[in-house]
Amino acid sequence: MERSTIVRVHDGLHARPATRFVKLAKGFESDIEIVKADKSVSAKSSVKLMLLGVKENEEVTVRANGADAIEAIEALIGYLENPLSGTAEEDGATATERAPQAIVQSRPALSVGPVDAGVAGMKGVAASEGFAIGPAFGFFPAEIQHENRMLRPDEIAGEAARLNQAFATVQTRMDTSLAAKGLAESDRGIIAALKDIACDEELTNAATVLVNGGIDAVSAVIGATSKIAADFASMDDPYLNARADDVNAVGRQICLALLGQDDANLEAIPSGSILIAEDIGAWDLARAPLKRIAGVICGHGGATSHVAIIARAHGIPAVLGLGQIVHDLKGAKSVALDGNSGAVFADPDAATADRFREAIGKDNAEKQLLKAYRDVTPTRADGKIIEIAANLGSLEEIEAAQEAGAMGVGLFRTELLFMRHIHLPSEDLQAETYATLAKAFAPYPVIVRTLDIGGDKPISGIDFPDEENPFLGWRGIRMCLDRPDVFKPQLRALLRAAVHGNIKVMLPMVSSIDEVRATRVLIDKCIGELKAQNTPHATFDLGIMVETPAAVMVAPMLAREVAFFSIGTNDLTQYIMAADRLNPTVAKLNDVRHPAVMAAIEMTAKAAVEAGIMVGMCGEAAGRVDLIPTFIKMGLTELSMSPSSIQRAKKCVQELGAAI
Ligand code: PEP
Ligand code: MG
Repeated sequence: MERSTIVRVHDGLHARPATRFVKLAKGFESDIEIVKADKSVSAKSSVKLMLLGVKENEEVTVRANGADAIEAIEALIGYLENPLSGTAEEDGATATERAPQAIVQSRPALSVGPVDAGVAGMKGVAASEGFAIGPAFGFFPAEIQHENRMLRPDEIAGEAARLNQAFATVQTRMDTSLAAKGLAESDRGIIAALKDIACDEELTNAATVLVNGGIDAVSAVIGATSKIAADFASMDDPYLNARADDVNAVGRQICLALLGQDDANLEAIPSGSILIAEDIGAWDLARAPLKRIAGVICGHGGATSHVAIIARAHGIPAVLGLGQIVHDLKGAKSVALDGNSGAVFADPDAATADRFREAIGKDNAEKQLLKAYRDVTPTRADGKIIEIAANLGSLEEIEAAQEAGAMGVGLFRTELLFMRHIHLPSEDLQAETYATLAKAFAPYPVIVRTLDIGGDKPISGIDFPDEENPFLGWRGIRMCLDRPDVFKPQLRALLRAAVHGNIKVMLPMVSSIDEVRATRVLIDKCIGELKAQNTPHATFDLGIMVETPAAVMVAPMLAREVAFFSIGTNDLTQYIMAADRLNPTVAKLNDVRHPAVMAAIEMTAKAAVEAGIMVGMCGEAAGRVDLIPTFIKMGLTELSMSPSSIQRAKKCVQELGAAI
């Protein structure tokens, strides 16, 4: 029997709604198919269902054959007609995030081997200050090495059994991970999505058919996963395209199980290790056990890349941008790094190791002394308070900022909140996140930056065009104004959170006054909507980041439109100097102390002071004690930085005392 309906599930049957549908279907004994146009697939395979690409408002037919066919059709049609099916709201969840789909990229095995004799000192970009020495922990993707082999007929049954065993092993490992205590909801969602794929009959059947046809199990898994991944990659939906990576990641796990190899990951990093990688995603690093990482060394990245920012936020010394020579460290047993100069030593000799230990000891002693400045309120000679605030990327960093003595938040980067979710985070989740921040730091202000995606910070959930120059492209406020469906929920969430504390909002990448005005129109619309819904809300100060040369040039005019400026020296430096902030080859040019950049900062400060609005800084330069006196003299009254720099900055401003 069969019944047709129009699918009302929000966003259609991709990702979580599809896996929920399959789970429901598997609860019935009947054979069940779902039919769209002239295509029908088993309703018990989420891979097949996702590949069918059923969208909201499309017509489908559910066909069932078996003892419980009537009940099955009833339940499945009910599911398809409910817009909330497969969402967190369906579970009655409130603040919990929607389970993200696996966004794990397939990670090849790690390789840590013996010392490469002859590799001693090397130099990269000093990206997060401090010294570190410890055992090397390599995070180097490597392809699975395997040669295809045709099976003899008498080998087929054994190979099929090995294949089943490998699937079972991977499924059990994923179950074990899911059962682990303290697993973050977002990580649980990722692992659960991978497990769904590992259990999917589309994949298991395809691999088994190949083995039964005489192909060895590893080649069969590679063949089956590549085909399914290619199908996902060719779909016209970015969510489904991202499933290709998930399928490859699962295939890799199964191959490793067949080859008897382990795929180590960052979870296994021993305490005190130096993490060495060619590249590491900001999101991978953000959810790694950061407390166990003593230092970070990367082939890619620069001083203001997001890996650097996360390392600094957690006080982890880092040297980035080593380029290809990072591979020379693959064999090192221990590594020493100097995050102030960018020097790296593989297997340091006894004298070098002693020097590092001594430097670490001095650093720790300085940190102890600086603690005395935790509760200091630095002031200028005229009594004006200089706010030393924290740059944060997630709620997990609140504690470190408070411990450091942060006088509020000068920059909350909302990107990580968006990166953590495959769906854009809901307005409710955002409102709750911003309210938590506001409450944590009240009465100090919390400056939330609206979404600054693009450049080096793409996210799944927004389809970014391929751009020749993403840093000069569709990012920050440009993207947000083009996507009110993304921007308005964030603005509404901020208006709602403003009830709970001192929320201020700032716009990234502003280059013209029109962008500010267009944002105000949207804010007014949001206020109107919230009023009509009787939703509690409050207004906020609107400011901008000054990080484009254009904004500097029109700063006097912009200052009449907004409540404050915050100078983003990371981008401002790259745009003034025309030197990509991620490109180690031009790292030398990317220097905030260049007279051109300092002149831009001064022009911005002058415009703000003349207009009587607050001017602060949230780029990495804000934490530099060699520059802080100059910035304060220019008129900056707020400096926002990594929590690890706060006490030193407070000491610096306090000591300036009457001199300013
Ligand atoms: C900046 O550009 O200085 C800044 C603070 O923003 P981000 O580093 O997030 O681009
Ligand atoms: Mg910026």
